[in-house]
Parts: sequence; structure tokens; C-alpha cells
Amino acid sequence: MMKQRALVLVEPGKTEVREIDIPSPKSDEALLEINTVGFCGGDLNGFRGLFELQEYPNVLGHEVGATIREVGNEVPDAFKPGVRVTLNPYLNCGHCVSCRKGRPNACQDNKTMGVRRPGAMTRFITVPWQKLHASSTLSTRELALVEPLTVGFHAAARGRVSAGEKVAVIGCGIVGMGALAASVHRGAEVIAVDIDDAKMRTAKLAGAAHTINTTNVDLHEALMEITDGDGPDVIIEAVGNPATYRAAVEEVAYTGRVVYIGYAKKPVDYSTGTFVRKEIEILGSRNCLGDFPDVISYLEAGKFPVDAVISRVVSLDEAGAALADWSANPGPITKIMVDFDNSVTQ
Ligand SMILES: [Zn+2]
Ligand SMILES: [Zn+2]
Repeated sequence: MMKQRALVLVEPGKTEVREIDIPSPKSDEALLEINTVGFCGGDLNGFRGLFELQEYPNVLGHEVGATIREVGNEVPDAFKPGVRVTLNPYLNCGHCVSCRKGRPNACQDNKTMGVRRPGAMTRFITVPWQKLHASSTLSTRELALVEPLTVGFHAAARGRVSAGEKVAVIGCGIVGMGALAASVHRGAEVIAVDIDDAKMRTAKLAGAAHTINTTNVDLHEALMEITDGDGPDVIIEAVGNPATYRAAVEEVAYTGRVVYIGYAKKPVDYSTGTFVRKEIEILGSRNCLGDFPDVISYLEAGKFPVDAVISRVVSLDEAGAALADWSANPGPITKIMVDFDNSVTQ
């Protein structure tokens, strides 16, 4: 069998480029030539040994921009060779309670590529055609941004963000940027909260009406001023640390909604009286549910600051070191992409 090179997360803190087989497509599969793969916050947590679902060793990568090269005989014409695609990297079990209720994104046994099965940080992979989403106009870098943005779009849907509401998004990494963009798209007045000025500028480009850098400004006072003393109608937490988890319930308006996307790595202490007194809704948000076509048409409309969120583009051989750099200094990085068109892959 022909071999190709792949980025493998061997164990926490250790990546390696290893040789793996080049697969060939089954009748319902497409063979994709990978052009671009983004590193996910989940990859970072897996590298740090902080993501409980991460299995080792595993080829990383599930944020994909690729070109179809070959198809099995059951694959419809919309996915013929030459078509550019991204993919839905989740695999749900089909019979757990979430799956039975039409919520496969929260499947109890979900297997995401690169987390619980081999990922896409290599030149060729095979994927069932039902997982593919095509675009004739997006670049493969834009296609690689679709999946992380869907996670934010899903969070805005979970929060039932609607026109005229004031929505604070805490954390302007790529998932937070997706939540922000989706909230703007839904007609909300969006307040972006982060600790990095470059991310605040990017948030403005994506349509945030207000920005709060909490290294210089008191979050509570700033939110009170922007919301005339009410607090935001919806707060979406996309950081995953105890302080921001608490801030979300403390700062949200009475009768408001809080959506959690971030994974807090430590237990969070709450004064739960706030939940009851304010009669707030607290919603978890995981992966996405049918958001791929919406995100693709949103990106096709050209309103998202794509270049501003791509912090760094590296080759396959540089990818492991780039992940380690990101782990050492996460603040200024929004998205690192691995460019397979400019990598030695065989
Ligand atoms: Zn991801
Ligand atoms: Zn399931």
C-alpha cells in the first residue's frame, strides 16, 4: 500500500509525523485530497492532556478544506472529482437518547475525527459522501473555518438569539467569533469580551457593536453601561474557565439566557441563588446541528474577516511545533492552519 505522512498526537505534549496508509474509497465514500486543516481548541486541549475524550495516539485534525479526487459508485454527482469541500467530522451512534431525540450533536458515544478516530492532518482521507459540504466559491482555507464557526452558530441557536437583543460573547477565539457572527446575523447588538486587543479589532470587523477588554475595563461596569443597567439578554461563554463561567450567570439580565460552549477544566463554584432569583436559563452547547449550510452561505457572502482570524499558516513538518507554541502562548492565536499544498506529504 502507498504511504503518506500524517501528524500524530502520540501522548499529551508529544506530536510526531508518522507514515500511514493512503486509503481507497468504498462505494459510498469520496477520496479527499487535503489542502488545509485548522488546529482546533480541542487539539490544543488534547495536546495539554486536558480533554477527557481525546484518545492517544491519534492522527489530529477535523477542520478541513479539501478537494475531491475519487469517488465510489454510489456517490451523487454533486460530489464529483474536482469539487472543493469541507466535512462534518462527527460520527453519532444512532441509538442513544440524544440520537433518538434528533440531537446527534450531543450523542453519548460521538466519535469526532482526530479525537476518537483518525483525523485529517495528512494528504488523503476517505469520507462517506453524506458528511461532505461543497462550495464552488470558498477557498479551502475558508472551508477549513466552517466547522469551528458552526460550533458558534449552534450556540447562538441554543441561546435563541433574536433581533434587537443585547448579546455578550465572552471569549473571541474562533468559536466565540462564530457565536458573535451568528448573533450579528440574527440581528442582535453584540458585545465582544476578551483580553486581547487584536481579537477585539477582529470582533468589530465581524460586526460587534461594542468591545470590552477586561484587562483594562471592569466587565460589570462596562456591561451595565451598554445595557442601561439591565445586563445582556444572552451571554455566550466561549472560554471555559471558572471565572468566566461565573461571570456569565452574574452578569446576564434577569430572565436572561446563558450558553456555555467552553469546557471548564476545573470545577466551578457558584452561588446558585442567582439562577433562581434571576430565573435564568442555563444551556450547554455542543458541536453543531445542521449549521454547515448556514455557515457556508454566511462565508460566501464575504462578511467574515477570514484573514484576520488566521494567525499563522504552517507546513506539516512545522505543525507539531506550532501546536506547542500555541500551548505555550495561547492568547494572541486565533487559528493556526496547516497547508498541505505546501508540505512534503509523501
Ligand atoms: Zn474543532
Ligand atoms: Zn448517539
